[in-house]
Amino acid sequence: MIIRMAEIPEQGRQYVGEDPSEVLELESEHDIHAEGPVSYNFHAQTAPGELIVRGSISVPVSFRCSKCAEPFKMTIKEPNFASVREAERDQSVDLTGEMREAIILAFPNYPVCKSDCKGLCARCGASLNREQCDCKGNKGNVWAALDGLELKKENKGE
Ligand SMILES: [Zn+2]
Ligand SMILES: [Zn+2]
Repeated sequence: MIIRMAEIPEQGRQYVGEDPSEVLELESEHDIHAEGPVSYNFHAQTAPGELIVRGSISVPVSFRCSKCAEPFKMTIKEPNFASVREAERDQSVDLTGEMREAIILAFPNYPVCKSDCKGLCARCGASLNREQCDCKGNKGNVWAALDGLELKKENKGE
């Protein structure tokens, strides 16, 4: 997102739009992918020798859950983006780097798909959101549980 100082009137100007998700440079992250463009809603003002921008940024991102390892999507928002940059009337200011930084700072350190995600069974690796294994009570075994699932599928004719 590039703002040209010359296009901002005295009372300021609203910028609402989208930047392609490539500006976030997430390509090298294995488990984090942008799922759509970066949306911004900025109010820009000028002061002598300065550009002042305030507003919000959001982008849909998919993460891998730290508990159950399933990918899930959430919208990352920075509602209080602010930037003050030195710039003269005939200059342009590129906010891309600052927007990228603000979004990455808003990422969760420990992404979980839902607050009550049950995660994986430490013993058999079953995803406890989807199935219940028998490890806890030590009765039966995981194969019996899997056989049960297979039977259910067959009955449904899948
Ligand atoms: Zn999860
Ligand atoms: Zn288990």
